Amino acid sequence: HEKVNRRIKDGTPFFSLEFFPPKTANGVANFFTRLDRFNEGGPVFVDITWHLGSDPANMSKETSSSSIAAGCMNFCRVDTMLHMTCVQYTKEQTIKHLEQAKAVGMRSILALRGDLPPVDDESKRPVYQYRALDMIRWIREEFGDYFTIACSGYPLGHPEAASYKADLQYLKAKQDAGAQLIVTQLFFEAETFERFVNDCREIGITIPIIPGIMPIMGYESIRRIASLSQLTIPEGILKDLEPIKHDDDAVRNYGKFRCVEMCRRLLANGTAPSLHLYTMNREGTCREILQELGLWQRRPMRALPWEPHGANHPLR
Ligand code: FAD
Repeated sequence: HEKVNRRIKDGTPFFSLEFFPPKTANGVANFFTRLDRFNEGGPVFVDITWHLGSDPANMSKETSSSSIAAGCMNFCRVDTMLHMTCVQYTKEQTIKHLEQAKAVGMRSILALRGDLPPVDDESKRPVYQYRALDMIRWIREEFGDYFTIACSGYPLGHPEAASYKADLQYLKAKQDAGAQLIVTQLFFEAETFERFVNDCREIGITIPIIPGIMPIMGYESIRRIASLSQLTIPEGILKDLEPIKHDDDAVRNYGKFRCVEMCRRLLANGTAPSLHLYTMNREGTCREILQELGLWQRRPMRALPWEPHGANHPLR
């Protein structure tokens, strides 16, 4: 987080990228090749998400979140933050996951509660004990300052929060417990993020707030994601999408255009120090957006171990 703070002080906008771990062992090589191409653009860090089955019980599998994150860092040489959820584990299990992350060299954790598993009957839902705040406290108690801790923020309030205000106070508690960086849930309009940052600053949240940016990459996919996140897509966007919804390229171009406009505004007015892009493990749209915003650096690609001459070598 020192690097992030230094970049914020410099005032030069930067970006980070989020990926989910590949689902199959076959996908792993593709994933790292793709990450290497992304690395060319100069992300300040990348994130690897955490899912059930991505815990150390599966550590022997190449696809566990921790091993993929370790690969990003040690193999693709990009600073990497590992997401970790705690709701479905005991405290001891979570500490074990953290020890495991430490053992593979991780220094940054995005501490999350995680989504509650689906149940057929809501009235029979077990009571889950832990939330992100607990995990942040455990990290500080058990590991001191070893890990940089990031946490989630919800520009429209978390759907389970008693109110938007209560959610802000809970976010402040996460900062007070040791979170050093906030990455937000996706949102659709610049004003949403501007209002959120303002409200956070007013109640004494001082740590950097990085907007989570999800470009619209497809009509059905954005509807599914919005529904899963319990977010409403603004009327204006749905109206714009209606006539082009069967034309994938048109939807993608529209999403790119809107995203560039929104990001340009947030960077220009200083609300966002940087951008965190939810890539959905896809390459084109995010790269084009970053290029249009002038954030893509075009660093030379390094040679991959199985490509002795590197991607830019004249013999390739
Ligand atoms: P918390 O911050 O612990 O709490 C969620 C909300 O509950 C709070 O915002 C608050 O409003 C309310 N709340 C809880 N306790 C209290 C209290 N005592 N008083 C008042 N309010 C309270 N999910 C995954 O499974 N894997 C991932 O890798 C992943 N990555 C994510 C990355 C980002 C940037 C974001 C924004 C979300 C991510 N999620 C991920 C989704 C996340 O797990 C869900 O949104 C989940 O429902 C909440 O997790 P949290 O850590 O935000 O919860």
